[in-house]
Amino acid sequence: MALTSSLPVTDELVLARMEKHDHEEVLFCFDRPTGLRAIIAIHDTTLGPALGGTRMWPYATEAEALQDVMRLSRGMTYKSALAGLDLGGGKAVIIGDARTDKTEAMFRRFGQFVDSLNGRYITAEDVGMSTMEMVNIRKETTNVAGLPEEMGGSGDPSPVTAYGVYMGMKAAARTAYGSDDLKGRKVSIQGAGNVGHALVGHLVQEGAQVYLTDIHPEKLAAIKAEFPTITLVDPESVYDLDVDIYSPCALGATVNDDTLKRLKCSIIAGAANNQLAREEVHGKAVMEKGILYAPDFLINAGGIINCAWERKGYNRQAALNQTKAIYDTTLRILKASADKGIPTYLAANQAAEERINSVRAAGFRY
Ligand code: NAD
Repeated sequence: MALTSSLPVTDELVLARMEKHDHEEVLFCFDRPTGLRAIIAIHDTTLGPALGGTRMWPYATEAEALQDVMRLSRGMTYKSALAGLDLGGGKAVIIGDARTDKTEAMFRRFGQFVDSLNGRYITAEDVGMSTMEMVNIRKETTNVAGLPEEMGGSGDPSPVTAYGVYMGMKAAARTAYGSDDLKGRKVSIQGAGNVGHALVGHLVQEGAQVYLTDIHPEKLAAIKAEFPTITLVDPESVYDLDVDIYSPCALGATVNDDTLKRLKCSIIAGAANNQLAREEVHGKAVMEKGILYAPDFLINAGGIINCAWERKGYNRQAALNQTKAIYDTTLRILKASADKGIPTYLAANQAAEERINSVRAAGFRY
């Protein structure tokens, strides 16, 4: 069960996988007393220490866990580079069921493994984790972000992420329609979670017509009570709606062969990681269909920006100001894509690689 990818799991060995995308280091963590089985992947530390969340997920096989952590850690390198952060890319996965397997001891032991990397990897929250686990990890290492506000942390990053997605969406609207005004625009949001909820707020305030879906009706009802003008839709019909903008804020890989036949939007701009089921195939396919895709790792960087500010001494306004710059970066990337006639994800990748390569050429390495 791969969470964000529909890619087949390969049986390549670890060093071969590392060589393919230049991963620097992979640490396998096992602890019998606590049942901890984890993998930490550091992709690239040219720009700074590798920051990226820990995901807890009941991976069916070790190969799936390895594939996920390697792919996600590489994604963090690009996300932080594009956001202008002095951070590299890393990620961790813990193999286990987040509902039943969590113990204080497990996360303290995991914290010791993080600490053994001497600051080359800084962890944070991801799927299956909460601030409570960060508190337990913090008992063993200072290399953790996403702590609760009462501990001097930055708390839930989702509102900052949603603000960045909103900025990226507006930049995409300006590129596609000549104006970033979303008033009257029809926007479908898939996922009424933490990010989706905050995004609804921005869009309703601007006068957009919001269509919202989720697999949990109670989440939809709560948001409808707060924003009565929105329209609720069922999860499967979200791909068939006649909307201007589709905003995936639930799962990855929702832009695929099946949904591309159905989508009628002119923009895709959302928070979910890895929205393109297969980057090279579907990144090109959206372009050929005339849909402007705002790359997910470009516009959902608010969360990592928030974490980066936590490391420097948390300042919410400063985090929001830096997140606002996603608007200009998105305009720049979308223009580069149009000028070069290449898919938007590729233009974003190239911009990230340009920054990393220029810093690497100057001899920096964390
Ligand atoms: P969340 O878990 O709070 O919300 C996700 C929502 O999606 C849930 O309400 C869930 O019920 C719903 N969902 C699941 N499957 C669905 C389906 N098939 N159809 C419709 N809804 C479905 O997560 P979040 O924090 O709001 O994050 C949303 C997405 O953005 C995730 O993919 C996450 O990885 C990504 N992201 C989040 C942040 C952040 O700061 N929270 C940062 C970067 C990326």
